[in-house]
Amino acid sequence: MSTLPISPSQPAPLDILSHVFGYAGFRGPQEAIIAHVIAGGDALVLMPTGGGKSLCYQIPAIARQNAGHGVTIVISPLIALMHDQVGALTEAGVSAAFLNSTQTYEESSQLEAQLLRNELTLLYAAPERINTPRMKGLLTSLHERGLLSLFAIDEAHCVSQWGHDFRPEYRSLSLLHETFPDVPRMALTATADALTRQDMIERLQLESARHFVSSFDRPNIRYSIVEKTDATRQLLRFIQTEHHGEAGIVYCQSRKRVEEIAGMLEDAGLKAMAYHAGFDAKVRQQRQDRFLREDGCVMVATIAFGMGIDKPDVRFVAHLDMPKNIEGYYQETGRAGRDGLAADAWMVYGLQDVVNQRRMIDTSEVASEEFKQVMRCKLDALLTLAEGTRCRRVSLLGYFGEASEPCGNCDNCLNPPAVWDATEAARKLLSCIYRVQQASGISFGAGHIMDILRGKTSDKIVQYGHDKLSTFGIGADLSEPQWRGVLRHLIASNLVASTLMHSASGNSFNTLQLLPDARQVLKGEASVLLRQQVASAKGERTRRTSKSPAKTSVKGLAEATLNAGALERLGLLKAWRTAVAKEHNLPPFVIFHDATLRAIAEQAPHSLDDLRGISGIGEKKLQAYGNEVLRVCREPEFDAPDDGENLQLQAPDWPE
Ligand code: ADP
Ligand code: ZN
Repeated sequence: MSTLPISPSQPAPLDILSHVFGYAGFRGPQEAIIAHVIAGGDALVLMPTGGGKSLCYQIPAIARQNAGHGVTIVISPLIALMHDQVGALTEAGVSAAFLNSTQTYEESSQLEAQLLRNELTLLYAAPERINTPRMKGLLTSLHERGLLSLFAIDEAHCVSQWGHDFRPEYRSLSLLHETFPDVPRMALTATADALTRQDMIERLQLESARHFVSSFDRPNIRYSIVEKTDATRQLLRFIQTEHHGEAGIVYCQSRKRVEEIAGMLEDAGLKAMAYHAGFDAKVRQQRQDRFLREDGCVMVATIAFGMGIDKPDVRFVAHLDMPKNIEGYYQETGRAGRDGLAADAWMVYGLQDVVNQRRMIDTSEVASEEFKQVMRCKLDALLTLAEGTRCRRVSLLGYFGEASEPCGNCDNCLNPPAVWDATEAARKLLSCIYRVQQASGISFGAGHIMDILRGKTSDKIVQYGHDKLSTFGIGADLSEPQWRGVLRHLIASNLVASTLMHSASGNSFNTLQLLPDARQVLKGEASVLLRQQVASAKGERTRRTSKSPAKTSVKGLAEATLNAGALERLGLLKAWRTAVAKEHNLPPFVIFHDATLRAIAEQAPHSLDDLRGISGIGEKKLQAYGNEVLRVCREPEFDAPDDGENLQLQAPDWPE
């Protein structure tokens, strides 16, 4: 614990929040976390993406530096983003800098001198940087002078191999604690699963830190998981009908698919880009910058993209392939709607996803059997979510140990899926797999099994005499897609295994085998309930309607209506913001968030005082941009009447 007291004359955290950041109040546990850390306590902060973790160390950093404790070191895995983070702080009037490998010796020396003069409030550095002899020397010098205020370890789950972003460099961060045991530390993450959390606590020696665990709910995100029929067409329709002209991320599993999909979206006239680890760093950086800086871009990417992307106005995250586990899904979808406005998490999912994910685990040559077992359980939890008919949010939060009520803002709540009793069909399918295996002594694939069930006489069926089996033709009442749905459910529920085999001629094919749990269904001891495929194929999703419960529960929806005058002001404000952002070489949202611009446009301010109360405008920004904003707001020719929707029909107030 730090011994230097914070004097009562120092600004209170709430003053810093409003003065520097322009926000009226703390969110959730922010206040408690900030008070604890300012007082010199260690903290572990678990908060969902968009929950507001940054302020939890930025405000203590400001308060502690004011009180003479020196600099807060922020360890963050992505060098690429430090520039924007530091830019955002600078815009708000906070002295911040980053150390990275692109700086010259002189630049680094200058920074070091500034640090030793106690002129910096926050210093961002990558974990590999912390371990360099030069950095260790610097930290020691600062510590000797009492100028090492706090360590904030962002994305702390990177320390754990159970998390989805394991980074070996994070392991050495335990050295910080060992070398500077009296400097307070906080670790922050949006990853909530128990295994990763425990590992993180042990690795970073945070046993005695106070743990702050927030609700992981993201009420403004609407979750939908739809049956995959023609993924590309489905995606295009989703974007065009729901998110035309808006920023979004599309996740695919392979690099090849990323490029295909990006090309397809571009052909359809969208501002789409591909991003994966196969592109060189410069191309990736350019594309990421464009995504951050330009309005309405769609990034099609592998999971190489996204960590630390704190673009607040991503309106949708789409998954064209299923992720590995719920942690990954939740982290990726969490990149939507950080600004609290309505956003979509949309995934298409099919039989092949299940088979592929299982196979990736089974065939991994690096993973130990214990590791594979953990991965299998995690995948099963995701499959249960995808197959499930209850509220997606209840399932998701339940996975993270949080109880909740049906949300009214997911596909299953808005459009309760029709359920059919597939027990009989499941038994037919299971016994068909069993009979075929018994009769031939070898396993066959899904297509063959379905042909037998549906009574098709293919050459292969005749060759093996499978048209003589008792199960031949017993499933003619169901369509092939229906059978696929049944099979997918059986595979997802671990009643059937799909195994990859290699023929003598070098071809690979999938075969189906029964697993022990199949017995219960075969004996009629367990029933199988499935979502109605036909229904979901027809009306994949309902459009957001004004009647949907979400509309009332989510504040500040993106499509909330502005009157004509406000809309015009918003357009002008956005254009002005783009120009300023370009000049400062920063993303537009670092200047002002969309929500702030909307509030300004709505309010039609006439004075700096009118601007002062608006969320997101702190003192520094008011000084720097206030008059400009007022000028831009005066630009529209006529003010719209406050309730006036039909501006065009109304005559302006001409002097008589
Ligand atoms: P996280 O790191 O947890 O994903 P951020 O720290 O990036 O989230 O915060 C998400 C957004 O919420 C940011 O745009 C931030 O400015 C905003 N925010 C955070 N705390 C508050 C608050 N108390 N009032 C208003 N906006 C806030
Ligand atoms: Zn729901």
